[in-house]
Amino acid sequence: MKVGIGYDIHRLVEGRKLILGGVEIDYPRGLLGHSDADVLIHAICDGLLGAAGLGDIGRLFPDTDERYRGISSVELLKEVAGKIIEAGFFIGNIDATVILQLPKLAALIPRMEERLASVLDIEMDRINIKATTNEGLDATGRGEAIVAWVVVGLSRMVKE
Ligand code: MG
Repeated sequence: MKVGIGYDIHRLVEGRKLILGGVEIDYPRGLLGHSDADVLIHAICDGLLGAAGLGDIGRLFPDTDERYRGISSVELLKEVAGKIIEAGFFIGNIDATVILQLPKLAALIPRMEERLASVLDIEMDRINIKATTNEGLDATGRGEAIVAWVVVGLSRMVKE
């Protein structure tokens, strides 16, 4: 088994949609970034690429590349998932922690897990998303940013 870690942080600002785990969330602010800034998907991509030894999301999708401006991170995740399969791996499990003060995610997590499982074409029980606050501390605790940490386990496909 191969293990990978993913981390990402994006600023929460006015005038942007909030998209987390491929799900649009009704909230007055959203994440700032070159793509749709889905911090959870970015961390998942990095975890997957790390476990497979394939570099990182910045190398694959440079934020200087106009093709990726405003792109849905779901599209990036699909491309990463394809590379994982090409490299001969399947996803054992993905465990994620999203750190944010607001909005409350608990009720939305099943939808995010369902969406990601469908994009990755894996069973829902292979993906687990947790949410926690930063207890009001630092930028994340002040509601100025959202952070995601992800750990991924990949297994090698058995050669026929
Ligand atoms: Mg990012």
